[in-house]
Amino acid sequence: MSVKRLAVVGCGTMGGGIIGLAAQKGYQVVGVEAGHEAVAAAEKRITSVLQDGLDRGKLTTEQVEAAAERFELTTDLGAVAEADLVIEAVYEDVDLKCRLLAQIDRLVGANTLVASNTSTIPLVVLAGATTRPHQVVGLHFFNPVPAMRLVEVIRTPVTEAGPLAAVTDFATVLGKNPVVVNDVPGFVGNLLIVPYLLDAIRAYERGVADMDSIDSVIVLGFNHKMGPFRLSDLIGLDIVHDMAASMYEEYKDPRYQPPTLLKQYVRLGWLGRKTGRGFYDYSGAEPVPTR
Ligand code: NAD
Repeated sequence: MSVKRLAVVGCGTMGGGIIGLAAQKGYQVVGVEAGHEAVAAAEKRITSVLQDGLDRGKLTTEQVEAAAERFELTTDLGAVAEADLVIEAVYEDVDLKCRLLAQIDRLVGANTLVASNTSTIPLVVLAGATTRPHQVVGLHFFNPVPAMRLVEVIRTPVTEAGPLAAVTDFATVLGKNPVVVNDVPGFVGNLLIVPYLLDAIRAYERGVADMDSIDSVIVLGFNHKMGPFRLSDLIGLDIVHDMAASMYEEYKDPRYQPPTLLKQYVRLGWLGRKTGRGFYDYSGAEPVPTR
């Protein structure tokens, strides 16, 4: 059982990054998006992932051109049919993911592996939407995909050893360090990081300090690359909100309840870097706090 052809459904921040990286590493990839505008946006996103590799000296012009030849984008979900592995990377919405996974399950062959890039939704719920729960694995990449070394590989009690080994090998070929984790909402990464991000927002709401100062404390005092507000903007405030809501639904622990300010920013469409504005405004040379 090995992966040669890849399909990615949802080519946003994460799906686009996965497609760009897999194409660089020699995989033939098809990406499926929800509409023609989304396909155009995904094309731009993946091209900029490859261009970034060139700018950083990690890829040559020939490698970028070869990678660009290896991926194609479509709005036709039927294009997943030939894949050995389908990775679902649409919004963190359980109903949408289950609906798509059930469709994917009907379209692909009996041996095809199915993975989800979900951050917080129990994998058993997603696996249960298919007729092949033993071949469903969580493949939790981190953002930005080309740069972050970790992939959490999630197994449920029914995940079989073969599919687990195949997706773990796939992550290794992509140059990642896979860590196998059990199916607990939030896995390890988000179980720990989401309450931290929400606590930072609540600290701001309580008037402890402004956002820039909270970020500075974490960067200067704990040697993190960025503080919680810049990190939330990088992840996407809608994604932070949806992760929190999904974990709150599961644990009913107020630590996971989305704070009012986060909900307000999401309702305003201030989703972070991807919309140019979130906790910071990214329109100038340097990010400036929006309040
Ligand atoms: P995103 O909003 O950037 O991208 C989601 C994409 O899914 C969009 O391009 C959208 O058009 C597409 N989509 C929606 N419905 C679709 C459909 N029916 N068919 C095909 N495409 C469809 O979101 P993202 O940040 O890439 O997150 C995707 C998943 O990855 C989520 O489950 C999220 O929790 C997880 N994740 C996100 C991060 C992060 O830092 N952003 C990190 C790890 C995991």
